[in-house]
Amino acid sequence: MKAAKIRLYVEQPLGQGQTVPLDRAQAHYLFGVMRQATGDAVLVFNGQDGEWRARVMEAGKRGGLIKAEERTAPQNDPPDLWLLFAPIKKARTDFIVEKAAEMGAARIVPVQTEFTNAERIRQDRLQAHAVEAAEQCGGTFVPEVTGLHALSRLLADWPQERQLMFCDEALAGHSSALSGGLVRGAPWAILIGPEGGFSQAERDRLAALPFAHAVSLGPRILRADTAAVAAMTLWQRHLGDWA
Ligand code: SAH
Repeated sequence: MKAAKIRLYVEQPLGQGQTVPLDRAQAHYLFGVMRQATGDAVLVFNGQDGEWRARVMEAGKRGGLIKAEERTAPQNDPPDLWLLFAPIKKARTDFIVEKAAEMGAARIVPVQTEFTNAERIRQDRLQAHAVEAAEQCGGTFVPEVTGLHALSRLLADWPQERQLMFCDEALAGHSSALSGGLVRGAPWAILIGPEGGFSQAERDRLAALPFAHAVSLGPRILRADTAAVAAMTLWQRHLGDWA
């Protein structure tokens, strides 16, 4: 069996001969968990400079040093797609962030809607999930996970050129799939509601916004985590980098 490639996200610049110090967590992962040692090669990326093969120069318990040797893949950024979702239970919220990173979201924005239960999120934990997903899926980009924003505020300050795919459970079973005539290459966002769905007031407000497009995700009501993956699949297929 071919050993799985070890990929590590780092924050430092990457280039030929560039050395990168490793922090405690990275050293623990590479040397403790993955059993790498001085002289071994690992793949690294920083979200900007593509993927590099790097050599382990120093391996310690609390740190280490690697040196970038050769670029193995160019930088590949996802389309300009934001995923807005209302946080749900912890494990399902983690799942949404992980899947959004794999599916190619450029930015992940937890939103507080009228029927959202969660009042706070662990942004650092969610960001760590996005990093792990990028390491695992071969991507060279890590989406930013923002803090929790109130949906009403976000909509008030919305950049008008960014289109919004509003996934409305009230349209389940209606034929309002993502329709033709939508601009490719434009910035977009997807909006997924909480377990309790959207309020009528939210629905009315969204209906009046010129950049919002209400969309059905088929005849069944999906759980929010399923809906997030389904919506991103649909968008990527029609307007994104699967098309
Ligand atoms: N409790 C609500 C369902 C919420 S589902 C009810 O029973 O009506 C959680 C979120 O997933 C929704 O807010 C919506 O954004 C999305 N969603 C689920 N199924 C959908 C569908 N068939 N069409 C569009 N959006 C859907």
